[in-house]
Amino acid sequence: NADAKIFEEVGEQVAAWAANQQKEIDQLRSWSEYRRAFLGDISHELKTPIFNIQGYIESLIDSGVEDPVFSLSFLKKAAKNVDRLQTIIQDLETISKLETGNMLLEITSFDIRELGKEVFEELEIKAAERNISLDFKEGANQNFRVKADREKIRQVLINLVHNSIKYGIPNGRIKFAFYDMDKRVLIEVADNGIGIPKEHLAHVFDRFYRVDKSRSRTQGGSGLGLSIVKHIIEAHAQTINVRSTPNLGSTFGFTLDKAG
Ligand code: ADP
Repeated sequence: NADAKIFEEVGEQVAAWAANQQKEIDQLRSWSEYRRAFLGDISHELKTPIFNIQGYIESLIDSGVEDPVFSLSFLKKAAKNVDRLQTIIQDLETISKLETGNMLLEITSFDIRELGKEVFEELEIKAAERNISLDFKEGANQNFRVKADREKIRQVLINLVHNSIKYGIPNGRIKFAFYDMDKRVLIEVADNGIGIPKEHLAHVFDRFYRVDKSRSRTQGGSGLGLSIVKHIIEAHAQTINVRSTPNLGSTFGFTLDKAG
């Protein structure tokens, strides 16, 4: 009887071990599938600018160098594609750090409105180039000190406001709003731009997902901005949402914990 009990216990331990092994194998398999898909996406994304650069260089070699106007315009186009490659690579580095958990959060307490103002000032010129005005809506006398990684939240705000500029309409506006939600602050970046069709809304945070590829590319987008935003917000154990209506505009909102 005692033997039977020992057998039973050993059997249970082996079954638990096997189940655990299976779980690890499944995890590794889905991770390796993810990596494979990611690598596929990356090479696909890098191919377009490289292909363009090659085209401009070949045209210059074939016929363009004698004509200074022609060669200057081709060199400028090639340089633009180099910029795109750089943006993609920078964004990939950020994502890879976030995904491997190598990016530790440096949590401090700061006023989110001040950070918002800094970001607005930084992007004012870009917005003015497209005739877009930036508005600030802040509740008076409220506490908007949050506990978060200031630099990473700056990146989040820059990506959101920059998108609102890229996908805004001329003479449009972008509004920053802050809401006091008891233990948290809700931060919203709203624009009256081109908006996002309903069927695309659930995907805009996916890496390299673009509603309109050519618009994103002409605006210098890497297709990684919102994916970085989502990673950073989730690393803070918070959520980000989007509401949007085509031709009316989009509102991105996320929360942060209040300090103290
Ligand atoms: P991209 O570099 O293409 O801008 P993002 O990850 O930042 O990449 O955004 C993904 C896609 O979501 C964009 O290509 C665009 O189609 C859509 N999008 C993002 N922000 C907005 C916005 N404010 N208004 C309309 N569409 C947007």
